[in-house]
Amino acid sequence: MSDGKCPKCGTRITAFQAGFKGRKKPFECRGCGQKIQKANSELWLAMGAFAAFWGIKSQTDDIAVLAAVFFAMCAVIVLKSMYRAQIELADAVEGMAQEPSSS
Ligand SMILES: [Zn+2]
Repeated sequence: MSDGKCPKCGTRITAFQAGFKGRKKPFECRGCGQKIQKANSELWLAMGAFAAFWGIKSQTDDIAVLAAVFFAMCAVIVLKSMYRAQIELADAVEGMAQEPSSS
């Protein structure tokens, strides 16, 4: 477990991986190719952010304000994932049956 970094080589996950990969959805480390995944989720943060967005939207119809708020929210979510997400090895998941290696 480390903060937004591959546990194997320490390469930080990309903004795309931070923002668009869900919890327990394995992706490849761009540093070493190891399959890694986020152990936690920013879903509650995203929900709160969108609730706030709708609250602001009901107060103003200024598209520039709404766009600025929207992009700021996305940046916060992505950055938080990049720097705070718990990353684990995808093949080190406990409680799942190991696939038989038939080779
Ligand atoms: Zn790595």
